[in-house]
Amino acid sequence: MAVISLKKAMGKVFFALLAAFSLCLVWGAGGSSVHAMSLDGQWKYYDRGEIDPLLTTMTSGNANLMYDDNRWIECSLEDDFEFSPQSNGVILSTRLPKILRLNSPALFFVTRNEAVRVYLDSELLYDGQDFWRNRHVYGNRWHLVDLPDNYMGRQLTFQLYAENQKDLGRLMHVSVDEGMVQMQQIFKHDSFVYVLLPLSLITIVILLQHYWVNDSHSCVGHPFIIAFILLCTVQAVAGMWSVLLVIDSMFFWYNAFMLSTLLLTVPLQLLACNLLEGRACSFVRGILVVSLLFFVLACADEAAEIGLAEAVRVGSYWWSNLGLVVISIFLYWQGRQEAYCRSLSWPIMATALAGIAIGVAWQYGMVDYQNGFSNLLVLPMLVYVIWLMRHMMVEEKRLSVENQLLEQEVRVEKHKAQVDPLTKSFTRAKLDETMENSVEAAEAGGVPFSLLMFDLDKFKSINDTYGHAMGDMVLVSFANIIRHNLDARHTFIRYGGEEFMVLCSQYGLEEAWQLAEQIRMDLEEAVILKDRQVTCSAGISCWHTGAGDSVQELQKRADDALYYAKNNGRNRCVLETKLLELKSLKGNLPEGKPS
Ligand code: GH3
Ligand code: MG
Ligand code: MG
Repeated sequence: MAVISLKKAMGKVFFALLAAFSLCLVWGAGGSSVHAMSLDGQWKYYDRGEIDPLLTTMTSGNANLMYDDNRWIECSLEDDFEFSPQSNGVILSTRLPKILRLNSPALFFVTRNEAVRVYLDSELLYDGQDFWRNRHVYGNRWHLVDLPDNYMGRQLTFQLYAENQKDLGRLMHVSVDEGMVQMQQIFKHDSFVYVLLPLSLITIVILLQHYWVNDSHSCVGHPFIIAFILLCTVQAVAGMWSVLLVIDSMFFWYNAFMLSTLLLTVPLQLLACNLLEGRACSFVRGILVVSLLFFVLACADEAAEIGLAEAVRVGSYWWSNLGLVVISIFLYWQGRQEAYCRSLSWPIMATALAGIAIGVAWQYGMVDYQNGFSNLLVLPMLVYVIWLMRHMMVEEKRLSVENQLLEQEVRVEKHKAQVDPLTKSFTRAKLDETMENSVEAAEAGGVPFSLLMFDLDKFKSINDTYGHAMGDMVLVSFANIIRHNLDARHTFIRYGGEEFMVLCSQYGLEEAWQLAEQIRMDLEEAVILKDRQVTCSAGISCWHTGAGDSVQELQKRADDALYYAKNNGRNRCVLETKLLELKSLKGNLPEGKPS
């Protein structure tokens, strides 16, 4: 019960986070380009040959360029303008507005795959180069530069270097504002990842818990789903802006981003290999091998600078997403373990379609390649996991209800087998169980118990005289008389035919004899048949604690006593001790059957 309510609570938290995630995605992705002091407008650039391509320094010659208006070309950062550089460097310049006076002003901008230096007039303000390998800075990197208080109206110049000329001069989100406001911008950009992280974490915890609690085949894909969510999480974290505040290394985060992106679909491919059989499985293995090949190529390119990075990235992206489409179709049609496979095909298909949509948007320049939308890829899987857990909870509940009903049925059947339908006393089936408990209580705790064995006298002749139905009525009446004398300490059993037993817990021999006598007298006095008195005989034995007694011996002693009663006039109760007395007198037990 507690586990189910915990799962329910986790489900609620999950959906709350999911809603927050969607809101943050819209807010973070949509709002980050709007600034009070956006500098997207009046710019000019210079990309002719004189620029030092390695950006060792802003040469005096270059500095002089700034004041020679004829050599500059007007542009706007908002336009998707193309440079035609004769080198890998470009200089971009604008004049800072005179209107706003800010407390602790700061310049914010994002570069992509570029090294950058910023000058205020000809004074070097910021050296944002990451001198890792050929002075190239991969990925989208934000820069926050403190401006002096007298920044207004001064010339702001960026010196940019890119290995790939396609990236050259790509400045984004350039704005001047108070330092705190600029900082908020960074966290706003990452807001949806802050929601995505606990969301993924909860999902992983749920999966792990489920994996450990159940060893059923229903968990066969869990490790792969966990790996997929983990890779998505690494990708999301590495694509955050604020992680640079923790580890200020674009190299590290860029590689984490690229590695997780390249490996993202591998767990899903492995999962499909696990669930599919035959040719479908071989086909998915092929997809997997090519994916890994892309990965190896990317690593080789990083190590040896082959220059294939872009091609590998694009190739791997399309290969893995189209591969996922194929995998989801295979899982739908050919997967074994029907329910699990079929339902898995949906999130995988959704992931693939989202990936393709993002890829198209990226290739047509609608979104940036490190865009927040990439984080949407994990959503179908998260939703699937919650669906799966819900489905399993419902299934578990159904099984537990079914189980309870079965147990109830078993109880009823057992009860039926233990109760005699005619006299409503217990049957022999109950005797063994009760006897076992009584012996245990006697041997372990010294609780005494006794056994009464009743047999109706001359019952056969009652049957013969009055008929079987009347005989039955006599049996029921006798059972009622016995029952009338019993309480919770007694177990009342129809041993067979017209023989009854009473197991008396906490009874010594003397008390047992009194009870048997009471029953015998009650029957004697009762008027069951109008012209004939019904009587019974009884034999009484008790458990001999610590004397190596046995159930068989106990029953035999009661039986012998009853036998003696029958042989000695009937309508009497005989204690086992009577036989012992006789035995010691005569040296043997009574012989001959009662007539
Ligand atoms: P005794 O005093 O020596 O016990 O004589 P008896 O006639 O009772 O001897 P016995 O034990 O041989 O007879 C038992 C009879 O009980 C035989 C059988 O027909 C009858 N009987 C057993 N079960 C039932 C039952 O369920 N209903 C009826 N009506 N008779 C039964
Ligand atoms: Mg009998
Ligand atoms: Mg009898």
